[in-house]
Amino acid sequence: MTSRQFATGTAPVVIIGAGPSGLAAAAMLRRASVPSVVLERERIGASWARHYDHLALHTARRGSHLPGLPLPRRYGSWVARDDFVRYLEHYREHHRLQVRTGTAVHQVTPVPAGPGGRWRVHTGDGIVAARAVVVATGRCHTPRVPDWPGLAGYGGTLLHSAHYRAPAPYRGRSVLVVGAGNSGTEIAAALAGAGAKKVWLSLRTPPNILPRDVSRWHLAGRMTELLPLALRDRSALMTQRCALPDLTPFGVPRPRTGPFTRNAQEGNNPVLDHGFVAAVRAGRVQPVAAVTGFDGSRVNLADGSRLTPDAVIAATGYRPCLEELLPGLDVLDDSGRPIVTGPRTCAAAPHLYFAGYTNLLSGALYQAGVEARRIARAIATDTTSMPRQRRASGSNHPS
Ligand SMILES: Cc1cc2nc3c(=O)[nH]c(=O)nc-3n(C[C@H](O)[C@H](O)[C@H](O)COP(=O)(O)OP(=O)(O)OC[C@H]3O[C@@H](n4cnc5c(N)ncnc54)[C@H](O)[C@@H]3O)c2cc1C
Repeated sequence: MTSRQFATGTAPVVIIGAGPSGLAAAAMLRRASVPSVVLERERIGASWARHYDHLALHTARRGSHLPGLPLPRRYGSWVARDDFVRYLEHYREHHRLQVRTGTAVHQVTPVPAGPGGRWRVHTGDGIVAARAVVVATGRCHTPRVPDWPGLAGYGGTLLHSAHYRAPAPYRGRSVLVVGAGNSGTEIAAALAGAGAKKVWLSLRTPPNILPRDVSRWHLAGRMTELLPLALRDRSALMTQRCALPDLTPFGVPRPRTGPFTRNAQEGNNPVLDHGFVAAVRAGRVQPVAAVTGFDGSRVNLADGSRLTPDAVIAATGYRPCLEELLPGLDVLDDSGRPIVTGPRTCAAAPHLYFAGYTNLLSGALYQAGVEARRIARAIATDTTSMPRQRRASGSNHPS
């Protein structure tokens, strides 16, 4: 194993992950004249490059760019997946960021004492010393499939939405999509529009649905951040009532809880309608009850009914999976999410930052810029992170 240890006292900030959050952090550190290197296990924008073919940003172009480089107007209002990946590659060139692709980070461990790096970043290529680490490996890191009873013995085709690419292979087949979030509703509508024989959408909780062009909605989310949740919910529920038809007769009741409360309590985002409402009203997508388990080739639903689809697509979310990366560090809560994010660090792990782990209604891409600026400012103004200028004891980081 070759070691890429940096010379003592000159250790850079190491950023793990060259997605939007990591690239934005690198750009803002560069602007603050703080040397950094981004370590990326695959390629720039790898998560985006892997998403399904027909994905376009559901946040509007004007609110989805990273600091210091707008998304080109020619990409349109709803930027297509490949254009967004192109943008991220251009972002790296534009800001002249140091990115090492093909470099997976396996672990981050603290250096107990001494000058130079405070963290050891263990890669397949050796160990990199870091004066600070920004973890930006993505909130949507690893697909999560519920531990449904009988799943192990299920004889049919089941895949997570992370592995779904395009509707064509499902032409003439019956598909059960599980989960009424943005991915589930969008995939269900696409399948129905591309000749699937039958499309069911299984939902547990009625989603908050907003028209796509109310995606200025994200702007509203930003501008009303300081108002009480109840007030924001009331206006959002009213928008839903005025802008979209009631889907209750089709099996999708109006939600009782508004999107702001659901976001605060469960971390869910409202669904931006990409044709789902029309597909339900036309009978091309049939909403059904929550999945409770599997039985041979059958899927059991909460209302006692059973389905035998040709394929099941689980649009059931992701986990950040940070435990192995950060062994023995007291920085994650019981659900495996960072205890603090952005410019704050845990007392147990100073100089270890997390970018991209919130899910605010203002949009993850917008937040990537906000967090990057704050993290860069915290690192640049932290005198304890300057080589050879460490404090004798104590930390200035709140826990
Ligand atoms: C289907 C889908 C659609 C979305 N659409 C939108 C949208 O329209 N607007 C919006 O604001 N948000 C959207 N999001 C949220 C999305 O998560 C963010 O937009 C954005 O990708 C988050 O950026 P990130 O850099 O935090 O994470 P990612 O984009 O996931 O980047 C993480 C990077 O870290 C790398 N990595 C992971 N582990 C390691 C390791 N151990 N070592 C080295 N590198 C590693 C990965 O390869 C990846 O390149 C969407 C999410 C999904 C799943």
